[in-house]
Amino acid sequence: MATSTAYKYKEPAPKVDRENPLESMMSRFNVAADILGLDDATYNVLKAADKQVIVHIPVTMDSGEVRVFEGYRVVHNTVLGPSKGGIRYDKNVHLDEVKALAAWMTWKCAVVDLPYGGAKGGIICDPTTMSAGEIERLTRAYTLAMKDVFGPDRDIPAPDMGTGPREMAWLMDEFSKTVGATTPAVVTGKPLVMGGSLGRTEATGRGVMVSALAAMRKLNMKPEESSAAVQGFGNVGSWAAKLLCEQGVKIKAISDVSGAYWNENGINIDEAIAYKNAHKGRLDGFQGAVLMEHAEDLLTLPVDVLVPAAVEDVITEHNAHDIKAKLIVEGANGPTSASADPIINEKGIMVVPDILANSGGVTVSYFEWVQNRQGFKWTEEMVTERADRIMSDAFEKVYATSQKYNVPMRIAAYVVAIDKVAQTYKFRGSF
Ligand code: NAD
Repeated sequence: MATSTAYKYKEPAPKVDRENPLESMMSRFNVAADILGLDDATYNVLKAADKQVIVHIPVTMDSGEVRVFEGYRVVHNTVLGPSKGGIRYDKNVHLDEVKALAAWMTWKCAVVDLPYGGAKGGIICDPTTMSAGEIERLTRAYTLAMKDVFGPDRDIPAPDMGTGPREMAWLMDEFSKTVGATTPAVVTGKPLVMGGSLGRTEATGRGVMVSALAAMRKLNMKPEESSAAVQGFGNVGSWAAKLLCEQGVKIKAISDVSGAYWNENGINIDEAIAYKNAHKGRLDGFQGAVLMEHAEDLLTLPVDVLVPAAVEDVITEHNAHDIKAKLIVEGANGPTSASADPIINEKGIMVVPDILANSGGVTVSYFEWVQNRQGFKWTEEMVTERADRIMSDAFEKVYATSQKYNVPMRIAAYVVAIDKVAQTYKFRGSF
């Protein structure tokens, strides 16, 4: 491993918009591998996924028609432990994207020092047009097809886009029947009554808040004198906004698919959440702020902190020049395209990257798995206190690495993660 502190940071090669997520991830991985002086063997092992399983799942639809769905499970790496990662139900699921997300999970678990590798799954389907019965049959058939991949010591799925506690309960039930024993630790994100963890719902937003505050301390920004804009008002965005607000940060803008809402005096986040809950999870018609003409302008508002917590590739080379925030905390996975990295770095904006900022979710998923294996339920205080400590420690480690190599936080996070995985390979002597 290179130990020099005089590494000359080279920007990842700029890329075109709507990047292939795998290439986007690899361009950052390559820079970090270069800094570490990663040997060819380890580089080649980490570049490729350990395992890719493609299944075709026949499901009888309510109409009587049998439809065949394509599903994936990609296990990127298991050197640190069983692989962990969500299952996505979406019509745009693509194998390249699943591969990128699986690798992302390896780095995310390594950054926060969890004993897990990385995986991701997906099924090409449109759950918004399917009945609960159809989704249940699909979930159970996918679980059966993946029975030799999943397992509490092998590969532990979780919810992702289009899936939630309901699907995880079906998955747990089907897997348990297959092995002949109730096996809650095979999956996380379960309903609370059947082995889910307290604190899981808010965990990702809470981690965003903890890492935002840690970054603000480094930048000498006082929360009570700072403002923020939060893109996305789902699980991550609404919790991040609420918890940042509780720390004194003035949330001047929020958004969801219905548009962006601005209030110079600060939005009452509890009111916005209550409004959303009463209106099918959407902010349409919210009166506590002004509806902005162009929702994407939220990203370039004059605020101190920007929290993209919706979808990927929203900060690109087209709008990065106009960003005014001093700090970006990535609640979403991949909200910044690789082409925007050099522009953001040039402007001196600190970015707490996705693999660090949104890892509070997988951290509490890990706690769920530990509780299931212990057969003992932790209090919410235990969950929160332990998760906050893991997030703070990870932030400090990534920050120290960014100082040591004089690189942005994103590259530093990859350096921390890849170094841990590479060192483990050396000790295990796997090849
Ligand atoms: P969610 O479905 O609960 O919420 C998504 C929100 O984004 C909704 O408010 C939706 O209306 C909004 N949205 C969608 N497209 C938008 C757009 N173009 N502009 C503005 N808003 C838009 O999803 P979530 O669980 O909050 O996840 C959000 C992001 O965080 C995703 O990238 C996800 O992969 C990532 N993430 C989630 C978790 C978790 O624990 N939920 C953990 C890690 C990462």
